[in-house]
Amino acid sequence: MPVLDTFRRPLRNLRISVTDRCNLRCQYCMPEMDYVWLPRQDILEFEEIGRLVDVFTTAGVDRLRLTGGEPLVRRDLQNLVRILASKSKIRDLALTTNGVLLEEQAGALRDAGLHRVTISLDTLQRDRFRALTRFDELPRVLAGIRAASSLGFSAVKIDSVVIRGVNHDELVALLEYGRTVGAEVRFIEYMDVGGATQWSREKVVSRSEILDGLERHYGPIEPVVEESSAPADRFRVSDGTVFGIISSTTAPFCASCDRSRLTADGLWYLCLYGVHGTDLRGPLRAGASPADLRRLIESGWSSRADRGAEERLALRDRAALVSVDTLRRDPHLEMHTRGG
Ligand code: SAM
Ligand code: SF4
Ligand code: SF4
Repeated sequence: MPVLDTFRRPLRNLRISVTDRCNLRCQYCMPEMDYVWLPRQDILEFEEIGRLVDVFTTAGVDRLRLTGGEPLVRRDLQNLVRILASKSKIRDLALTTNGVLLEEQAGALRDAGLHRVTISLDTLQRDRFRALTRFDELPRVLAGIRAASSLGFSAVKIDSVVIRGVNHDELVALLEYGRTVGAEVRFIEYMDVGGATQWSREKVVSRSEILDGLERHYGPIEPVVEESSAPADRFRVSDGTVFGIISSTTAPFCASCDRSRLTADGLWYLCLYGVHGTDLRGPLRAGASPADLRRLIESGWSSRADRGAEERLALRDRAALVSVDTLRRDPHLEMHTRGG
């Protein structure tokens, strides 16, 4: 039985950030010119991540997502995938990547046992991609998506953050592109987390605006009815194409949130908006037994009362969550550190 938190939400999903480094600099995530990086010696070894995952599975976790920073810049990531894929209690093993290094790694990741891949892609226009990420890598991302979609993963998805004045005019183009490569597209509302220091309410394209925009092109859109704790609500357009919307900003789904996050240096966060993490690396390296670690995890989760996005929604004057100075003092508040 999974451990339940104070709102009776089970612990099921663990997002594991394998590095805080990234080979892109998306405006809404890493807009600065330089960053304070986690000390190298603090980064968990793959074998340490495997031991922690074993403990998490005893507390209910059966779904894992590898993320970052950019997970594919972590050397030999397929070795971690192999360790995690061999665990019988893990029913779902997914990866979120910006896709730049995917073409060269997709085969090894698939062979190592990765189930699903989500690629982040916000624009199909090369100049726009460069302006948004500071690197001219769109061709490599598209090659990575093509490679992944030819390899028989159980699902390939595309996540697009929609920002007014940046890419809100590409909803149809992204959906059509997703269909051509057999990938379901999920539109993500722009969130005021971590490095999104330029966030403002005006730049958020809401779920209802996304639906309106697509309905203008495709005609009536119907919801796909399903029971799931997945963050995306899914919809179908008249030609049968299914897409998702992750409305974390205007219609948060905290009530069913079963996700927590492990940073690359072993801090465990119970919410994307959480300010304090529980140090698991310290006890792990000091020789804590699996039973000790399990107690730590169970007591953390059973006292969880986080519903960060709902609290943000209730604010009248809402601006970026944290300032650049605060992020410098505590890089764990960065989205690229705790894993999106
Ligand atoms: N580097 C990988 C990538 O980009 O897919 C994995 C880490 S990234 C932090 C995970 C996801 O968080 C990406 O889909 C990214 O678009 C999303 N993200 C980052 N900052 C965001 C923000 N301010 N609002 C909404 N989504 C954001
Ligand atoms: Fe962009 Fe992902 Fe890197 Fe953040 S971690 S800058 S979202 S590629
Ligand atoms: Fe879960 Fe926190 Fe996101 Fe709400 S804000 S869905 S509680 S991670």
